[in-house]
Amino acid sequence: MEYLTLSNGMKMPFVGLGTYKLTPEEAEEAVCFALQNGYELIDTANVYRNEKGVGRGIKKSGVDRSKIFLETKLWPAFFDDDDQVDKTLERLGLDYIDLMLIHRPYGNYLNGYKKLEKAYKEGKIKAIGISNFSNEQVKELLEVCEIKPVIIQNELNPYNPQVEANKYLRENGIALQAWFPLGGRGNSSIIDEKVVVELAKKYNKSPAQIILKWHIQMGFDVIPGSRNPEHIKENIDLFDFKLTDEEVNEITSLDKGEPIYYEDVPSIEQLMARKPLIEAQE
Ligand code: NAD
Repeated sequence: MEYLTLSNGMKMPFVGLGTYKLTPEEAEEAVCFALQNGYELIDTANVYRNEKGVGRGIKKSGVDRSKIFLETKLWPAFFDDDDQVDKTLERLGLDYIDLMLIHRPYGNYLNGYKKLEKAYKEGKIKAIGISNFSNEQVKELLEVCEIKPVIIQNELNPYNPQVEANKYLRENGIALQAWFPLGGRGNSSIIDEKVVVELAKKYNKSPAQIILKWHIQMGFDVIPGSRNPEHIKENIDLFDFKLTDEEVNEITSLDKGEPIYYEDVPSIEQLMARKPLIEAQE
């Protein structure tokens, strides 16, 4: 494993398992398998409704808590509540979270950030991050926050590498983490790109491994999602080859200048509707 050093000195594994769209049972299985096969980083979120499954997978793996970097995200419906970090810890069955993010900058997100700062001071979370913030929203946050975010999780992949926008984030000591690193579920076109397929042949790796290695060489932390044991193993087997700078640039030039995923800002009612579902997870 290779590690990213965050601005607060914490070491974060460069590759982790993403759990979006995994049911609680699938998350339990996948997390247990991943941890037993060399993974140290797991990404979940309140709204994935699988935090309990992730917690069971951690326990079942038998891996020591100190060897695990657990990342989760506070859902916007919870930004005004005082007890949601505690409830998240309860669901996970853990007594601290390594990194907690503001999932989306909707509603009263600056208040949500304050709740994370409080939990940080209480030792319940070891680092604070953000996700899906525009650079204007990051600037606004940096002007008012007490504790700086160490990382931002955004959509990043060869179709949307955001090279220019990332400069501001890097200048402010904010590390970059990619969601949809492979282009997301059902989007196999990045994997099928000619340049990617040719490099896979050259290095005797799969196209997915070429794309994940591109991320790492771009400085992006990656959390590819999978419930498939073969893919889970493959996605961490990235440290025995290196792309040339020219090859990295060739992949970056697949840039389409826009995200794959776009979401209209939901209403407060839509955000709130998830709250009972999150709290009722098995
Ligand atoms: P991804 O780009 O990781 O793609 C996942 C898809 O790729 C799945 O269909 C999977 O079966 C397939 N896949 C995985 N490994 C493969 C391999 N080796 N070969 C071929 N196919 C492979 O998309 P994702 O899982 O949606 O995103 C990664 C993670 O990012 C999520 O699981 C979640 O933890 C996080 N995420 C965060 C946000 C956010 O708003 N912060 C949004 C989306 C996802």
